[in-house]
Amino acid sequence: MTTEQKWVYNFGGGSSDGDASLKNLLGGKGANLAEMASLGLPVPPGFTITTDLCTLYYQNDRKWPNGLEQMVDNAVARIGEVVGKVFGDTGNPLLVSVRSGARASMPGMMDTVLNLGLNDETVAGLATLSGDERFAYDSYRRFIQMYSDVVLGVGHHTFEDLLDTYKEENDFFLDTDLKAADWKQVIASYKQAVEQELGRPFPQDVREQLRGAIDAVFGSWRNDRANTYRRLHNIPESWGTAVNVQAMVFGNMGESSATGVAFTRDPSTGENAYYGEFLINAQGEDVVAGIRTPQALTKRAREAMGDDAASLEEAMPETYKELEAVFQKLEKHYRDMQDIEFTIQQGKLWMLQTRNGKRTAKAALKIAVDMCDEKLITEEEAVMRVEPGSLDQLLHPSLDPDAPRDQLTKGLPASPGAASGEVVFNSDEAERLAQEGHKVILVRVETSPEDIHGMHAATGIVTARGGMTSHAAVVARGMGRPCVCGAGELRIEKDGSSFSVAGRQVAKGEKITIDGNTGQVFFGEVKTVQPELSGDFAKVMTWADKCRRMKVRANAETPLDARTALDFGAEGIGLCRTEHMFFDAERIIAVREMILAESKSGREAALTKLLPMQRGDFKELFEVMSGFPVTVRLLDPPLHEFLPHSDNEIEEVAKASGMDAEKLKARAHSLKEFNPMLGHRGCRLGVSYPEIYEMQVRAIMEAACDVSAGGDPVTPEIMIPLVAQKKELSLLKERVDAIAKAVLAEKGQELDYMVGTMIELPRAALTADKIAEDAEFFSFGTNDLTQTTFGLSRDDAGTFLPDYIRHGILERDPFVTLDQEGVGELVEIAAERGRKTRPDIKLGICGEHGGDPDSIHFVEKVGLDYVSCSPYRVPIARLAAAQSALAK
Ligand code: PEP
Ligand code: MG
Repeated sequence: MTTEQKWVYNFGGGSSDGDASLKNLLGGKGANLAEMASLGLPVPPGFTITTDLCTLYYQNDRKWPNGLEQMVDNAVARIGEVVGKVFGDTGNPLLVSVRSGARASMPGMMDTVLNLGLNDETVAGLATLSGDERFAYDSYRRFIQMYSDVVLGVGHHTFEDLLDTYKEENDFFLDTDLKAADWKQVIASYKQAVEQELGRPFPQDVREQLRGAIDAVFGSWRNDRANTYRRLHNIPESWGTAVNVQAMVFGNMGESSATGVAFTRDPSTGENAYYGEFLINAQGEDVVAGIRTPQALTKRAREAMGDDAASLEEAMPETYKELEAVFQKLEKHYRDMQDIEFTIQQGKLWMLQTRNGKRTAKAALKIAVDMCDEKLITEEEAVMRVEPGSLDQLLHPSLDPDAPRDQLTKGLPASPGAASGEVVFNSDEAERLAQEGHKVILVRVETSPEDIHGMHAATGIVTARGGMTSHAAVVARGMGRPCVCGAGELRIEKDGSSFSVAGRQVAKGEKITIDGNTGQVFFGEVKTVQPELSGDFAKVMTWADKCRRMKVRANAETPLDARTALDFGAEGIGLCRTEHMFFDAERIIAVREMILAESKSGREAALTKLLPMQRGDFKELFEVMSGFPVTVRLLDPPLHEFLPHSDNEIEEVAKASGMDAEKLKARAHSLKEFNPMLGHRGCRLGVSYPEIYEMQVRAIMEAACDVSAGGDPVTPEIMIPLVAQKKELSLLKERVDAIAKAVLAEKGQELDYMVGTMIELPRAALTADKIAEDAEFFSFGTNDLTQTTFGLSRDDAGTFLPDYIRHGILERDPFVTLDQEGVGELVEIAAERGRKTRPDIKLGICGEHGGDPDSIHFVEKVGLDYVSCSPYRVPIARLAAAQSALAK
């Protein structure tokens, strides 16, 4: 290892080693601090230790490489020179903050230490310098508490208990009642507690303090919260975090000091208006932690909220103007909405952070459209600005305006969408109930990063405390969960049995409904309606469609689903699973008759009943899809899904078929398979019982002829499932063609149709060149292809896949996001070999991955012609396909 490597990047004081282009190396926060410093904005000077070093740190068994210590010492000395202070100096001490900063923002997941550099001697220096002894000792006790918690592992409860005891003994109520002398006594008790617990005193050496804090921040990259957050947001562990060390500035130096967060546009609605919150005489963490309810940034927002406390615009008009100028400069520079942290120290404005702000899908669309109108970005850039997965939020229901409702209380509209569910007060319980299939609303005083799994499991979140930028609000928006924050009237019983509000009690398990668009909380379940998909959404989708190469189809069987798919912009049906057309109570009896028939004639009798039903279904589907392609897959039932189970069900089939119930029972028993997913399904069924596929092909062709006669010509795409070898397809195709020809002759009509196959078994992928001799199209059934490539049961993997993800064996569920390395390679092989035989072969994907943005990105690279997904994911697929095309 050489010492020449650059692990430390300085910024501030009129210069900057890095800039925003070094985001991977400096982390988001470090890169943006460097960029702001180079823009000449007032950034407290500091330095960033790189993410590369974090990786090295872990490779090196959490030890510092040679040379790092010297680099850190030099960088600290430089900060001191810029601000005219000295680290560890008793008369003129430099204090620093130490913060994490990964490539992707992970709000609140990792550790931070503030006020570092204070000890028994430097605190006196701070008191003299600031002219405020109380402030100095308050800062020192905050530092001891934070450092002990984060670095030394002494829980913050220890300190909270000591402070509470001190307050009680002295009849103090608020922290602000304590004077310098009080804090000195509290500090003595804190230090004693640390020494008692650790067997060594609280570190007085400021270099040792800094080293410990840097280690702790690197260490926090792998804490439980960060691990969970990374898993939920698909952030690879290998990225690592950077560490930012920066001169402290104080928002808690009296009434002319403040700290706040701001967005250059409204992160919830996207409205082009500054949006933010601040607290006078407070440190940054106070705002984010949601402990005090902050004041509005602008007069307009304050008035809209009916708040009495002065806005920053009113309280500090000069500084507010300066801040506005910074907002404008930053937004122009980054060409995106910024999320900003600032501190005002005795009237002087300092910028602590800027980053592209997280936003709701609604806001993302509005901001993209507005910025395009403002000529800040192009249409293509606008398309790239909206995260496809986030559109899911827009497809969430909102409250039916006509539904009766019973309002309990109102808080802040922190994250949009409406949700109903059973009240639950803790995150573990929320997770457990959700796993059992309950819809729950997580109700908390406030949330912390420990609640992340509960928030994820809940359909909605309510907090009693905290503002629009509190943890709950930020995380809920990121997850797309409706959330109401700061519902201040709400009181949760200590034993977690109920909450009360305005004299009413709501017990755990009772249903409530929340509206994240208005902040309202209602008793009981309120009816919801689907959103209107016009306006900004429609605009961005139109732009996306212009950029898109791949077509987007839907997996749908019913006319209702097909219509929904069309409304969402589907351009065809990529998979009509015909077995799903049989789930209806009346039909399933006929299907069971067919499956359980002992002879061909018995089967044919059942098929005769099914034929008109199928024909009718296909007619409706073809009509709804007027002219768009429709791929109909012949029967592929894992038999176990259709066999009768109860005596009652057997009896029904007996009655319909005239067969003996006992015989039927025996037949059903004999058809039971040990491994139905690998059993008598797909084309194997077609091989054994030709009459089933014959009936289906007849129904498809007759329906297509009838619909074509009256309107747009239908070109049915007939798909054979679960083919492993060319010979299976050859045999079945011959029969399909024979029936199709017969129907066309009977009808006296000419009609194009296609015959193709699913590629959903590894053998099919590998022999795709041969299969393509008979197949006019391939549709990748990546559900089965994943199942059979991994040898992982689709139906059973859910119980143990989480362990694989927890242990890092799998980064993601391969049934959700395509495993590009293995399954993806088979897709590539099959596409290439298929095209070799038949250059114009039509290629699509219809497994669940067809609606997953990352998988769509991959199949764009393979050059498939279309993706097919569930109707509600069609907009997501359209946008993801556009982004994939643009990224190429
Ligand atoms: C597949 O296997 O990916 C597929 C689409 O078919 P099914 O899910 O019906 O098995
Ligand atoms: Mg399949």
